[in-house]
Amino acid sequence: MQTQIQAGISKTIAPKLFIPAMTHDHPHHHDHDHDHHHDHPHAHPAQPVVQFDQLRTDPPVPETGYAGSHARRGTLTLNHGMVQTPIFMPVGTYGTVKGVTPTSLEDMGAQIILGNTFHLWMRPGLDVMQSFGGLHEFERWRKPILTDSGGFQVWSLGAMRKITEEGVHFSSPVNGDKLFMSPEVSMQIQTVLNSDIAMQLDECTPYLSVEPKTKGQVTTESEARKSMEMSLRWAKRSQAEFARLENPNALFGIVQGGMFEHLRQESLEALVEMDFPGYAVGGVSVGEPKDEMLRIMAHTPHRLPWHKPRYLMGVGTPEDLVEGVAAGVDMFDCVMPTRNARNGTLFTRFGDLKMRNARHKSDHGPLDATCTCYTCKGITRPGGVVSGGFSRAYLHHLDRCGEMLSPMLLTIHNLHYYLNLMREVRAALDAGRFGAFRAQFKVDRARGV
Ligand SMILES: [Zn+2]
Repeated sequence: MQTQIQAGISKTIAPKLFIPAMTHDHPHHHDHDHDHHHDHPHAHPAQPVVQFDQLRTDPPVPETGYAGSHARRGTLTLNHGMVQTPIFMPVGTYGTVKGVTPTSLEDMGAQIILGNTFHLWMRPGLDVMQSFGGLHEFERWRKPILTDSGGFQVWSLGAMRKITEEGVHFSSPVNGDKLFMSPEVSMQIQTVLNSDIAMQLDECTPYLSVEPKTKGQVTTESEARKSMEMSLRWAKRSQAEFARLENPNALFGIVQGGMFEHLRQESLEALVEMDFPGYAVGGVSVGEPKDEMLRIMAHTPHRLPWHKPRYLMGVGTPEDLVEGVAAGVDMFDCVMPTRNARNGTLFTRFGDLKMRNARHKSDHGPLDATCTCYTCKGITRPGGVVSGGFSRAYLHHLDRCGEMLSPMLLTIHNLHYYLNLMREVRAALDAGRFGAFRAQFKVDRARGV
């Protein structure tokens, strides 16, 4: 049954699926309005909401020689709430940010999280998602959600998929079923998920070819152009289907063009012409050398419309985030803080640290003395009792024993670090001292722990 729904989504079942979900007669409900949510699991907010307000930019400071940057501070208003930008978005692939409860995410300041369209399509499938009225109620997360298009995962299947103009034919990695992903299917799935921000289906141009004939070779200009142009046609089809479905959320276009500035420029201009409410820069952090990534990051984001949000997909290290902000990016996502935490690699103000290292064995100090997360500092309960605030010795011990609590606590720290870094970036922009912050950040991170 589930398989039929997956395979047939674009054909017979999809239209039936969407009619009951598209009732627009319910008033906008707020994050805390749980009862309302339960009573009307299919309710959509009445008005399409996406608005970006730019609050401040990073101006030059002539007397210091600081030339300014493209950094900006803004707020993004979405159907499930407001997001302060620049922002980092934790990745919740299967409807969960691995090892972290929604309460804990909120405590560490997450404002918006990601869900992966492809994974949620495979499991639990759209019939289950539809019965919950979308991903928010299913995973019980009340704040905004961004979903990717599923294109990157399909593309990553390598030999198991075939890309045509119409879409991508592939075998389900879960059960081998023959499935089809297209711009229309992606929009239909993301409409069922009811994410606040949906992404167009694009073809992620790889840095090194994964095609059998040219495997391992650097993508040529003509290959990158072909791919970028197809992504533009898919952008149009995504936009048309999104409108047809009357999806009340925001659809972002994705700039492609590989490592070629002139192709990036063409892609950007064509997408701006289509007038999306926000734009992403895709096809970076796909295996290219760091300097190539920085070159594209310096080229593209600030050329996008200033009055719309800009999202740099899949990037990156703390250094990349700060430089990305300087390049004019508002939104980031990356699996690095969560994945690295599970491998025992931690980010701190003064550099990175490996929990597995024997030098932590009897260290009573916290991971990062400047960190205010549950793992490092703990939280003070009513009555003054502190919960949490663990030593390096304890965290090292948990890791050595392979205890479940180890990746949980380390994930809390790493996500808190990323979210707090963005909080500090916003505060610096608010105070008009982003340049000074950026310089100090580099010095601190290079110090070492
Ligand atoms: Zn911490």
